[in-house]
Amino acid sequence: MTPRMHRSSRAAGALVGSAVGDALGAPFEFGPPGRFSAAFPTPARGARTEMCGGGSPGWEPGEFTDDTQMALLVATSLVERGGLDEADLFDRFRTWAAADPPDIGNQTRAVLGSGLPWDTAAAEHFARSGHAAGNGSLMRTTPAAIRFARNGREATMDAARRISALTHGDPSAGEGCAVFHELVRVALGGGDPLAAIPAALESVAGEHRERWATVLAPDWTPERATESNGAVWPTLGQAVWALRDGRDFAEVLRLVIDLGGDTDTVAAVAGGLAGAVYGMGGIPMRWASVVHGRVPGSGDRVWRLAGLQQLAAALDGGAQQSYDPGVIPRIGPREVLPGIWAGNLDGARYSEQDFVVISLCRLGEPFPHTLHRMAYIADNDHNADLDGMLADVLDDMAALRAEGHRLLVHCHGGASRTGLVLRAWLVREEEMTPEAATAYVAERWPHLGLWNDSFTAALARLEQGDR
Ligand SMILES: [Mg+2]
Repeated sequence: MTPRMHRSSRAAGALVGSAVGDALGAPFEFGPPGRFSAAFPTPARGARTEMCGGGSPGWEPGEFTDDTQMALLVATSLVERGGLDEADLFDRFRTWAAADPPDIGNQTRAVLGSGLPWDTAAAEHFARSGHAAGNGSLMRTTPAAIRFARNGREATMDAARRISALTHGDPSAGEGCAVFHELVRVALGGGDPLAAIPAALESVAGEHRERWATVLAPDWTPERATESNGAVWPTLGQAVWALRDGRDFAEVLRLVIDLGGDTDTVAAVAGGLAGAVYGMGGIPMRWASVVHGRVPGSGDRVWRLAGLQQLAAALDGGAQQSYDPGVIPRIGPREVLPGIWAGNLDGARYSEQDFVVISLCRLGEPFPHTLHRMAYIADNDHNADLDGMLADVLDDMAALRAEGHRLLVHCHGGASRTGLVLRAWLVREEEMTPEAATAYVAERWPHLGLWNDSFTAALARLEQGDR
C-alpha cells in the first residue's frame, strides 16, 4: 500500500513548485504560445535542461524573478513577525522596490513608490487609475496560503485579501488570492482542490463571484479568456485549467508556459497549486535542484532548494532549523557500475568536481559541483511517491550517461538509498532481476544496505513495470 503523502512534502512542494514555475516560465515571458514545447519537445534531462535562462532582463538558468522575490518577502515577514503584520510587510515591499529589482510589475511599482502609507497607498492608486486587477498579488501569495491553511477557510481567505490589498486596491485581485488560498489549503490537507472550487466560490464576495465562477468552471479553456493573462482572472483560470488537464507537475507547467504571455507568473501560480497536490517528490529533480535567486534589498543571501524547504516547514508550523550533518568519515567514490560511482555524503562532497552528483539525502551546505541533482528519498517506508522519484532519478541518470558524464550516486551513509538506485538501474537498464542486481552490487559495493523493505518492494514493482 502506498503511504499517504506527508503534509510537509506538500508544503515544500507548494513553495518550491511556485519558485520552479517562476524560473521555468521566465525565459518565455511575453512570447507567443507553444514556444516552450517547440524548444523542448521532450523532457530535457541531460546537462542542459528546460531551466534555460534568458528572457528579459537576462535571467540565469534556474533563477526566479520578482514573483518569488516578493513571495519570499511575504514568507519571511510572516515567519519573523509570527503572523500577518501589514505595516511590516508593506515596508519590506517598499525596501525591495527601492533596491531596483530587475523586474517589477507596473502597478506594484506605482503603489510602492507613491510614498503613501500601507493602509492607503493601493486604495488611492485604484481610485485614481481604476486599473488594479493585475496578477501581481496572486503571484506572490503561496507562502501566505501555506501559513494560514491551518486556520481554516474563512481565515486563510481573509488573510489573502488583506495581503493582496497592500498593492492591489481592486478587490477582484484579493478575491482571486482568496480562492487560491482555499485551494492550497485543501490540497495541503490531502484533498482535491478542483473539488473544492464550488465551496471556495461561496466564500467569494457576491459582486465578484460570477466572474470567478466563469474562469474556474470545468469547461472553461484559456481561449475563452476575455483579457490577457496579465490580469488576475485568466491567470488563476489558466492555472486551474492546467491542474485539471495535466497528469503530473511537469505537464501542468508545460501546459501553462505554452500558453505564452505572462508565463513566469502563471507558472508560479500553477506551480504553487500543483506542488501542493503532487508534493516535493512530484517536482522533477532537474528543476528543483537549480532553482535559486536573491531578494534585492534583503542582503546577499542566495535562496536555494534547502532554504526554501526550511522556510516552507516554518510557514507550516514546523521548526525552521538549518541542517548540519556534521563531518563523517568519507566512503568512496568508487566505480560500481560502468560510469556510475557510489559514495557517502562526504565521499561525494569532496569528490572531483567533474562528477555529476546525484544526491539522495539532505545535504546541509550545497556542493561545489557544477552539475548536481538532488532528490530527497527518506530511508524509511514513508515515501509516498517512491516510484515516481526513482523513475525521475533513473531517467536523468540515463540522459546524463548518454552524454558521457561520470555519475556519482550518494546518500548519507552510501548504503541503503544509494544501493536502491544502483540496483534499480540494473533492473531497468540491464533487465536484471532484483536478486541478480542485488548480488551484482553487493559484490562491488560492500557498503550496500538491504534493511529497507519498502525499497525491495519498489524494485519488484520496477521489474514488473518494465517487462
Ligand atoms: Mg516575474
